[in-house]
Amino acid sequence: MTDPLPMGATIGILGGGQLGRMLSVAAARLGLKTHIFEPGAEPPAGQVAHKVTRAGYHDDAALTAFAKSVDVVTYEFENIPTAALDVIETRVPIRPGREALRVSQDRLTEKTYLEDLGLTVAPFADVADPAALKAAVDHIGLPAILKTRRFGYDGKGQARLTSLDDVDQAWAAMSDQPAILEGFVGFTREISVIAARSAKGDVACFDPGENLHKNGILHSTTVPARLSAAQRTDAVLIAAKVLNALDYIGVLGVELFVTDAGLVVNEIAPRVHNSGHWTQNGCAVDQFEQHIRAVAGWPLGDGTRYADVTMENLIGTDVERADTLARETDTALHLYGKTEVKPGRKMGHVNRIRRSSAS
Ligand code: AMP
Repeated sequence: MTDPLPMGATIGILGGGQLGRMLSVAAARLGLKTHIFEPGAEPPAGQVAHKVTRAGYHDDAALTAFAKSVDVVTYEFENIPTAALDVIETRVPIRPGREALRVSQDRLTEKTYLEDLGLTVAPFADVADPAALKAAVDHIGLPAILKTRRFGYDGKGQARLTSLDDVDQAWAAMSDQPAILEGFVGFTREISVIAARSAKGDVACFDPGENLHKNGILHSTTVPARLSAAQRTDAVLIAAKVLNALDYIGVLGVELFVTDAGLVVNEIAPRVHNSGHWTQNGCAVDQFEQHIRAVAGWPLGDGTRYADVTMENLIGTDVERADTLARETDTALHLYGKTEVKPGRKMGHVNRIRRSSAS
């Protein structure tokens, strides 16, 4: 696929959560359709997409029919089974490409890839069993964090170690899955860059956002982040380096730790990212539209920030405040249409705009 998709074309999206939902809305604004592929019932994206296929990622017939019905496929999460991608890719391009998924699906592959690019990451070691964990602790030191190599998100599959007594408990928390031990980075703050690359190779980055996590889950993102001009430039250059190395098409989230010695890359996410939701009310073209433009082969839009914004996630029962939030001035409420409230479940977010000091 080299030509830009014409209006009326269909973008297939693997995953029907809130990210797929907001991608579908952005596609619709550009005159494009979306077709969601999702195993779960009543996906939030299904309420706004043109079409939904409810099937599992091992259902080759459903994957084939899905691939035949769309012009390009993208995704809203990175843990898609390789076999499903193989079925799709014989029929239709997948954007961002397979290399981005290969690198980001496994923390060990990801850290090694980023280090090979010359970027700074936390010290890390492969941990396959308790003996390897003890050796890794000797090598890296404490405090440290043990993380499963695959399928970790929102702080899940992680254990902190502060003393050698924690080794057994930390390993038990991995449930016998391969893991990686990371040295603890003494950061002053956490930031992320939401970056985009078009099919032609143009790169555009949104202003870095400053992230606050609570219980391992993103609580809020504030722009502008408290960064020096040099740090801001470094953050954007790091994101651009990763995009170009991966020959990437679409939006990528790059999470960074700010330290006195410079920026340390924590992880990359080959998709639109929770810490980029502020762009919906801080920019003319937000991360969702930017991603749709890129995967559709369109030119990237203008993502210049025109307001200061704080995005706050509505997690679990936070959504009960929706009525009150809907009355706040300079506040945009975004709800995901999820009927069942569960602890830790992302139900929506608000973007609070502060116009006064916009650059
Ligand atoms: P992750 O799932 O890797 O993004 O980790 C979730 C959160 O745990 C991060 O946003 C940090 O707040 C913290 N964290 C993860 N890895 C490290 C590390 N190596 N050093 C310090 N804090 C970390």
